[in-house]
Amino acid sequence: MTDDSVSRLATISDQLRRAASLGDHAAPTLIAVSKTHDADTIRPLLDAGHRVFGENRVQEAAGKWPALIEAYPGVELHLIGQLQSNKAADAVALFDAIHTVDRPSLIAALGEAMAKSGRRPDCFLQVNIGEEEQKGGCAIAETPAMLEAARAAGLPIVGLMAIPPHGVDAAPYFALLAKMARELGLEKLSMGMSEDYEVAAMLGASHVRVGSALFGARG
Ligand SMILES: *Cc1c(COP(=O)(O)O)cnc(C)c1O
Repeated sequence: MTDDSVSRLATISDQLRRAASLGDHAAPTLIAVSKTHDADTIRPLLDAGHRVFGENRVQEAAGKWPALIEAYPGVELHLIGQLQSNKAADAVALFDAIHTVDRPSLIAALGEAMAKSGRRPDCFLQVNIGEEEQKGGCAIAETPAMLEAARAAGLPIVGLMAIPPHGVDAAPYFALLAKMARELGLEKLSMGMSEDYEVAAMLGASHVRVGSALFGARG
């Protein structure tokens, strides 16, 4: 019997390819967001050959991923959740990409951890694209300065990441993020979740972060 998540992976991959081609873009990388799910839930996707996964907490990821990485060579692990500066070294040690670089203190901590370990995960600057009070991400106007600071600290910034406001059409926010990335000369765009990954793909996402549409609702 095919596992549900495996058939959903195929369906979503098809949808992404189609949506991206409508916008004349390459299909984005599908990050399977496995937060809150245990190894037994994740394994069918690994067995089916999927290798790109996302987690939002360093500690949770450190608990379940080292054994899976050992068993399935080629896993690419993305940190998509807010990162505290005191966990920067652990994050650099475990993750291949960090999507939530958004403030000077974190930039300093990551720069130090990278210099010490010699590991340099790809980094995305998270932008507070809806200018929402309680949301992570740097302000739109501060993004160029943040990019400069991150580069000065030795962080390999490859693109921008955003989570648009909830409950409204995400397309204008995705378009704005894409425009910002273009103007900054950044190639990658981490945008789109279960609700809106097709729109994101159409507007040029390089990475979509999909959890519940793959694994089902989280408990
Ligand atoms: C949980 C999470 C996702 C995935 O959300 P779904 O709606 O389950 O697809 C994507 N991005 C971030 C930053 C998340 O925390």
